[in-house]
Formats: sequence, structure tokens, C-alpha cells
Amino acid sequence: MLNKDTISSFNELETPFYYYDLKLLEQTLESCRMAADKFGFHVHYALKANFNEQVLEAIRKIGFGADCVSGNEVKKAIDLGFDSQKVVFAGVGKSDKEITEALNSDIYCFNVESVQELEIINGLAAKLGKEARVALRINPNVDAHTHQYITTGLEENKFGINQWELNACIEQLKACKQLNLIGIHFHIGSQITNLEVFKSLCLKVNELNVWFADHGYQLKVLNVGGGLGVDYHAPDENPINDFDSYFTIFNQFLERRNDQEVHFELGRALVAQCGSLISRILYVKNGLKKNFLILDAGMTELMRPALYQAYHKIENISSLSVKKIKYDVVGPICESTDCFGKEVELPESFRGDLIAIRTAGAYGEVMSSGYNLRERVKSVYSK
Ligand SMILES: *Cc1c(COP(=O)(O)O)cnc(C)c1O
Repeated sequence: MLNKDTISSFNELETPFYYYDLKLLEQTLESCRMAADKFGFHVHYALKANFNEQVLEAIRKIGFGADCVSGNEVKKAIDLGFDSQKVVFAGVGKSDKEITEALNSDIYCFNVESVQELEIINGLAAKLGKEARVALRINPNVDAHTHQYITTGLEENKFGINQWELNACIEQLKACKQLNLIGIHFHIGSQITNLEVFKSLCLKVNELNVWFADHGYQLKVLNVGGGLGVDYHAPDENPINDFDSYFTIFNQFLERRNDQEVHFELGRALVAQCGSLISRILYVKNGLKKNFLILDAGMTELMRPALYQAYHKIENISSLSVKKIKYDVVGPICESTDCFGKEVELPESFRGDLIAIRTAGAYGEVMSSGYNLRERVKSVYSK
């Protein structure tokens, strides 16, 4: 949280930067771990949400595994000390090089996204004389009721294997001597706030679990992915997700054998609230119809608003003014979509005031870019 002392410590610092509240991160991780432990559930952290090394170190320490979507993420997780037996590798387009390196690192499991990928992994594993554990990423055709740009579990999405392809998968697996099918995997979307969606997912997983058993596969792992949403509107009121309610749904609705493991891949819900993007107002433009605050941070530091019209809470953390004014809060980049919020009600604001863009710990720093030849954004950590 951004208390007075934290804010005054920002006065000396060059902006923009990401501020990470490591205490809140630890509390969030602890809360998630306790809730998961209650049901014996396994949690893998989705590195793509944030691969800042201090953040990763806190996650490694709590004992979570790593969910990776590129060869470099696999390498980073292992280099930073994640147990390779807790590393899983998903992605629709794994290259031969990435697969080979992951095989050499003896990762726990490949989450395979197409029939052809089975054949390719099998061939590369044969060359190395290795066996590869695989799970099939199945597209369950469950609507996540989230933004169209971040839904992934419908048949029209590029991700995963469709249910009508499962017979072909089984045929392919019979021909793939180096592959060991250990589970099925799902990931239906992100920023899911309606927990009913996860109940629908469970029912689908149950059907498929039975289907595989009927076809002679006693799966060890049911991997239900991630996607749990956070409260972007009230970060101070809801800094930590209700992980108990989340895991309880899966415990209640997933029908599993006693020896079957349930795996999760949480990204956003673990790291979003601990990060804020801190910026200074460069210019105030008062117009006839609109007022603009022009910040020294833009879409190059936080792309979500430009990319998915995402909402982030914006606060002026310097101003003591009681006078409220509506501003469009924009960045300095030469793109019209470089806008953090329209008609945002803020205390009267001035050049030099500090602006906090909240809930920016997930899909923030990782998506930063050098567009306009901008400098890479820096990070600052709580003590
Ligand atoms: C992105 C991703 C996740 C994490 O999603 P969140 O919405 O951040 O929880 C989990 N699994 C896979 C395969 C992903 O691609």
C-alpha cells in the first residue's frame, strides 16, 4: 500500500518506475499457499505475468512451481532456482530449439497444444534418448465471460486441442514411444471474476477425465490453469484475493481419484496488486472541453490500457487539494491510444505531482517496450 512514508520516499526518485510492495506480495503468496495446501493442490506461477527477479525470488521461496510459455522463461525459472520438476511449458508455437532445451532441463511436463506438436516433441526426445511427460491442453469451449482479447477457451481461439481432435491425439500418442501422457490441461482466459465460470470448467474436466479413463489412460494430473481476476477498481479494499473461495470451487466440483493431482497456474492474482506504476505530471493542458494530464509514463511502461482498453485506478498521491477536476490522463508517446484513463476525477493537479497507476504488478513491466526509443522502465522495492 502507498502510505505517507512510502510516498515521501518517492520524492527524490527519477520517474517513471514500478514500485513493488514486497510485503503485500509475500502476504498474497502465503494466503494462496495456505488455501491450496488445505486441499493438497499444486500451484505453478505463470512467469509471463511478471518475471522481475525480486518478484520471482519471493515466489520461488514460497515453493510454487513455474508455468512457462517460452524457452527463455523455462531457462529463467531454472536459473533462478525453481525446481525443474515443478516447471511446465505451454505455448502454441514451441520451437524445436525451445523443446530441445526444455528436454535437456528435464522439465516436469509439456502442455501440448496440437496433434502435430506431439509428433515433433516425440522426434526430438527420441534424438536425445529421453522420455517426455506431456499433458494435452484441451480447449473446453467454456466462455470465460471476460474481455474478448483475453479469452482463450473457445473453439475459435488459437489455443489448445479441440475435443473433436482427441481421437487423433490418442492415435498419435500410440505411435509416440518417447511420450508419457500424464494429464490434461486447461486455461480458459484471464481476469475471470465470475467464479461460476470455474464451476463450468470443472464439469468439463470431469467429462474429459472419464473419457480418458474409458480410453485406458489413468491420468495423474488435472491442470486447470489460471485466470483468477483481481479488483482493479478497489485495490486498497481488496488487496488479496479470496483464494479459499476459489480453491473451494475446484475441491467441490472436480471429481478425481485419490491419487490424482490438481494443478493450478496463477499469474495475475499473485502479483497484480503488489505493483504500481509511479509517474510525474509533465504538463497540465486545460482545454475548453477537456483537461489533460500529460505524464512521463506511457504505453511503453504500461501497455494494458492501450492494448485491451484495460482499467487501472489512477491516483494523484501528491495533491492535497479538495477541488476535484476531471482529466484525461495520457502518456508522452506518439499514439492516440497512449491514454491511461478518460474523464478521471482527481484533485486539482499540477506539474510535478506524483501519479500512481495501481494494480500494475501483472502484465505491466513485462510488456514494457523501447518504442520511441524510450528507456527501459526501472523498479523500486519496498523494504
Ligand atoms: C497466461 C497463462 C496463465 C496465467 O493466467 P492469469 O490470468 O495471469 O492467471 C496460466 N496458464 C497459461 C497456459 C497461460 O498462458
